[in-house]
Amino acid sequence: MRAIDVSDLLERPGSSRTVHVSEPVPDLHTELAGVPEDTPIEGDLTLESVVEGIYVTGSVGGRMTLVCARCLKSCERGFDVGVRELVAREAGPDDDYVIEPDLTLDPEPMVRDAVVLDMPFSPLCRPDCLGLCEVCGGDRNLGECPGHETTDPRWAALEVLLDPTTDRSDAGEPGR
Ligand SMILES: [Zn+2]
Ligand SMILES: [Zn+2]
Repeated sequence: MRAIDVSDLLERPGSSRTVHVSEPVPDLHTELAGVPEDTPIEGDLTLESVVEGIYVTGSVGGRMTLVCARCLKSCERGFDVGVRELVAREAGPDDDYVIEPDLTLDPEPMVRDAVVLDMPFSPLCRPDCLGLCEVCGGDRNLGECPGHETTDPRWAALEVLLDPTTDRSDAGEPGR
């Protein structure tokens, strides 16, 4: 994102200005979520000159691509996130953002941080996504998995008990 010249604001504490940003931010993604590089992030940021530096408030929005953590299908959703950060005149131990030596302010780091925080850790294409079968890989949402014989020994024992063809005559009828 382009740097914003804030020299005028720094000269006059108490003054403020609103800027519109609309630019793509490269390489903005987590493992299963990301903002496509050709999609701009857009919003209005109010820059307010305070003693410590420039206080930035506003919101930015755009579209992010998500990969469903259960079925791995891609989907898209919009986002709109708030920004509320101090960009310090001089870097202190608690300052995440600092005014550049040429008296400009780079909005990209705070926009990046706000959007990454909004990215879901474990995105779902829909809340009740059934996911993929771990045996055949079929998408259960599409009925692609035919179902499988269970291999759990507890179920196998129960199946023997319930199976009418199992010969149990020596247990139930001692008279034979
Ligand atoms: Zn899914
Ligand atoms: Zn399956």
